[in-house]
Amino acid sequence: MLEKSISQAVEKGEMLPLMEEFYTIQGEGSHTGKAAYFIRVGGCDVGCHWCDVKESWDPEKHPPTAVDAIVANAAKYSKTIVVTGGEPLTWDMGPLTTGLKNEGMQVHIETSGAYPLSGTWDWICLSPKKMKMPLPEVYEAAHELKVIVFNRHDFAFAKAEAEKVSSNCKLYLQPEWSVREKMIPMITEFVMDNPEWHVSLQTHKYLNIP
Ligand code: SF4
Repeated sequence: MLEKSISQAVEKGEMLPLMEEFYTIQGEGSHTGKAAYFIRVGGCDVGCHWCDVKESWDPEKHPPTAVDAIVANAAKYSKTIVVTGGEPLTWDMGPLTTGLKNEGMQVHIETSGAYPLSGTWDWICLSPKKMKMPLPEVYEAAHELKVIVFNRHDFAFAKAEAEKVSSNCKLYLQPEWSVREKMIPMITEFVMDNPEWHVSLQTHKYLNIP
């Protein structure tokens, strides 16, 4: 159990359960290839069976960390910050994004959209999950829709999700890593038939970087 003062700070977003932070290359989506500092926040109850960061799910396993310290670390490395998880919107992202923006950073989020949108973002990558669907406000605000393709049913899901985002939202299909060899031919065929969509690959995994 967390001390009351710590749990109150977590509740206000002044502390966050920090799983890891690292400087790397964004491997996915619109900003592929860009150097970025990743802040991975613990806590997610969406429950994707193919999730490759299941160790992020339980927030109690990750130390509550003051956002000031997170911002100070990030400022040493990059002007582009990617906040990911876990599901970052489990928490109030206001204090973290205010701190990052005060340092002049471009602040991106990767979210399932399952929780209310908090914080101020330069780029919102919405990756919807069938188990816990996004809230309408996140569809409206998304700059990028990234649908993970695990099986052929995900193409119909992707089309339905594209109906819910704004007309200038970029559309990406990304094969789930463990089934990529099977799904890539289907994705490439789909994108050639539906050129408003783009292929996203987890290029950081091909590059062998975090
Ligand atoms: S939303 Fe993301 S972190 Fe949560 S279970 Fe799904 S893939 Fe994992």
